[in-house]
Amino acid sequence: MGIVVQKFGGSSVESTEKLFNICKYITKEFDKGNKVIVVVSAQGKTTDNLIKEAKEIDENLDKRELDVLLSIGEQITISKLSMCLKKLGYKAVSLTGWQIPIKTNEKYGDADILKINLNRITKELALNKIVVIAGFQGINEKTGNITTLGRGGSDTTAVAIAAAIKADKCDIYKDVDGVYNIDPKTNKNAFKYDKISYDEMLDLSNNGAKVLHNKSVGFAKKYNVPIHIKSIYNENSSGTYIC
Ligand code: ADP
Ligand code: ASP
Ligand code: MG
Repeated sequence: MGIVVQKFGGSSVESTEKLFNICKYITKEFDKGNKVIVVVSAQGKTTDNLIKEAKEIDENLDKRELDVLLSIGEQITISKLSMCLKKLGYKAVSLTGWQIPIKTNEKYGDADILKINLNRITKELALNKIVVIAGFQGINEKTGNITTLGRGGSDTTAVAIAAAIKADKCDIYKDVDGVYNIDPKTNKNAFKYDKISYDEMLDLSNNGAKVLHNKSVGFAKKYNVPIHIKSIYNENSSGTYIC
C-alpha cells in the first residue's frame, strides 16, 4: 500500500465517456489498497476556447482576469470526474488549487509553485476518499489572487504534489505510449525511450517536445520524483520511466 499520484491531460478527459474510461485506471490503484490522488487538466480544447473568448473582449488580455477565467477549465473537470467516481460507488472529493492551497508567486499565466499545504489532502485521504485535484492553478498568498502555471502546467501540479506528499508513484497518462526522441505523431521513425534521465528529459522539453511541461521535469529532478509516462489507450505498454 502506498500513495499514488495519477495525472490525466485534456485529451484524456475531453468527454463524459473518457472521464468514465479513466476511472478504471484510478479505481484499479485504489482497489489495490493505495491512497490515490488524481490531477486533471481542462477538457479538450476548453483552455484554448476560453482564451479566444477573452480576446473577443480585449486583444490586450488582462492577466489577472485571464487566470480567473482559465482556472475554470480544470474546475469543471474535477467536479465531473468526482461525480463519475461517486456514481461508480467510490468516495471522492474535488479540490481546487486555492482550496488546498497550492501557493505560487504572482507571475500570472506562468506562476511558479512555492509551497503546497498537505493538511486538506491528507485529511481527505484518511477518510478513504480519492482526491481529485485541479491542475494548472494556484493562489498567490500575498494577494489572494488566482494564478495559473503556464500552458501544459497540470503536469507540474502532479509532480509537485507527488514531491510534497512523497508519493510512491507518479503516473502521467498521455495519448502516446511514452517519451520518444521526436514527436511520434509527426515522425514515423521516432523511437521510444523505456527509461530516460531527468537531464535528458529536460533537454527534450527545453527543445520544444510538448510531451511534458518543462517545469515539471525540473521539480522531478530537484525532489527525485520517479515519473512513469503511460498510454491512456494501452494498459500493457511499458511506457517511459523518467528517473
Ligand atoms: P496532455 O495530456 O498533457 O495534453 P497529450 O496526451 O496530448 O498530453 O500527449 C502529449 C503529446 O506530446 C502527444 O500527443 C505527442 O504528439 C506530443 N509530443 C511531442 N513531442 C513528443 C515526444 N518527444 N515524445 C512523445 N510525445 C511527444
Ligand atoms: N488546461 C491547461 C492548458 O491547456 C493546462 C494543462 O492542460 O495542463 O494548457
Ligand atoms: Mg495534449
